[in-house]
Amino acid sequence: TTTQTNDQLSQWDHDHFFHPSTHLGQFARREMGNRIITGANGVHITDREGKSSLDAFAGLYCVNVGYGRTEIADAIAAQAHELAYYHSYVGHGTEASITLSRMVAERAPEGLNHVYYGMSGSDANETNIKLVWYYNNVLGRPEKKKIISRWRGYHGSGLMTGSLTGLELFHKKFDLPLNQVVHTEAPYYFRRADRSMTEEAFSADCAQKLEALIEREGADTIAAFIGEPVLGTGGIVPPPAGYWEAIQKVLAKHDILLIADEVVTGFGRLGTMMGSDHYGLKPDLVTIAKGLTSAYAPLSGSIVSDKIWQVLEQGTDEFGPIGHGWTYSAHPIGAAAGVANLKLLDSLDLVSNAGTVGQYLNTAMADALGDHANVGDIRGEGMLCAIELVKDRDDHVFFDAADKVGPRIAAAMLEHGVIARAMPQGDIIGFAPPFSLTTAQADQIVAATHAAVKETL
Ligand code: PLP
Repeated sequence: TTTQTNDQLSQWDHDHFFHPSTHLGQFARREMGNRIITGANGVHITDREGKSSLDAFAGLYCVNVGYGRTEIADAIAAQAHELAYYHSYVGHGTEASITLSRMVAERAPEGLNHVYYGMSGSDANETNIKLVWYYNNVLGRPEKKKIISRWRGYHGSGLMTGSLTGLELFHKKFDLPLNQVVHTEAPYYFRRADRSMTEEAFSADCAQKLEALIEREGADTIAAFIGEPVLGTGGIVPPPAGYWEAIQKVLAKHDILLIADEVVTGFGRLGTMMGSDHYGLKPDLVTIAKGLTSAYAPLSGSIVSDKIWQVLEQGTDEFGPIGHGWTYSAHPIGAAAGVANLKLLDSLDLVSNAGTVGQYLNTAMADALGDHANVGDIRGEGMLCAIELVKDRDDHVFFDAADKVGPRIAAAMLEHGVIARAMPQGDIIGFAPPFSLTTAQADQIVAATHAAVKETL
């Protein structure tokens, strides 16, 4: 590829490459740039123009151990040389896939010991929903099928997972099967309607609304509740105090399974191995992806509890082999990357670094921008941070999407050498750096944010 000129590559890019989550018209008219990335090391990426940027979003919050880790690259190469592929159907496996399963089970919440592998967070959630439906069919309750998710939740872009996602952008014009899904209140304290509510009262209110929804629909029609421990793409929103405790009480009362979508929070982002550990979640199924391999290879997983596993086993005894499989389930190269990645997390103590440097980043961001008239909220947990911009802080007036305040600030930050993510809502800037971030690099992120906010607003 290095033999092509930049102009040639750019032309091919416009002619042939269908970019995900992109405004196609603006791209075609060259109203937005294209950036061709050539390399990366540590927390920095480099493009073909030779420009280096500090990647404060770790790709799409996935390169958790940082870029350029030779231990993972070498493990991938060794696996490709030895055995690039074999399938995992009807009892086949590889040393890497079996070892990784053991390592995942050791790190998973208690009582979750079985891992089904996919390639993306979206397909892992599709698997989870199919397993929940299968489970209720085997148990002889075929009506118990609807899934509750939250507004502002993000669970993927598939048919079912796009429906679970509670962001209208991902529903628009796609005719998704939304009838299987019921959305409930987002635990979004900053935007609560009743400003006088305490966090605890707001959590209780979310739980009451959930219970009212369950009663309206009928508990015998609801199979599961899916949620991210911390809302991610919906705006990086940690739950208000007492939220998960209150929600889990309602779910237990109505015999509704809990799917913890830990695609972002799994394997250390909150400073604990799993987000479930952080908030005391006792899920029946856990979705994992990004942090499983730090995105060195595409691999995801559905971690299944012993309780569900027993019913799945019983189902296959009754109905034959489970009719669910991907060619690339437990792909050996992904599995080798996963083993090397989890070892590196441990040997470099990166989960605890995510906790301490993440805390430093959040505090420094609040110190630098907490008083700014257009900064309504600064929030985060572990190595996740967000700032929410508002038109008027005292009167709680929000920007319109047309103001493009988030994209404008992110563009200004890039000029200062730092990549942050303008979250899809348009008025939130998100940060999710690699866990190897140093406090000096955190200072650099804060300085770039401060400068960009001042220049833009
Ligand atoms: N679930 C969560 C919480 C996510 O953040 C994402 C992606 O960002 C997904 C699922 C979907 O994962 P993928 O993009 O790998 O399909």
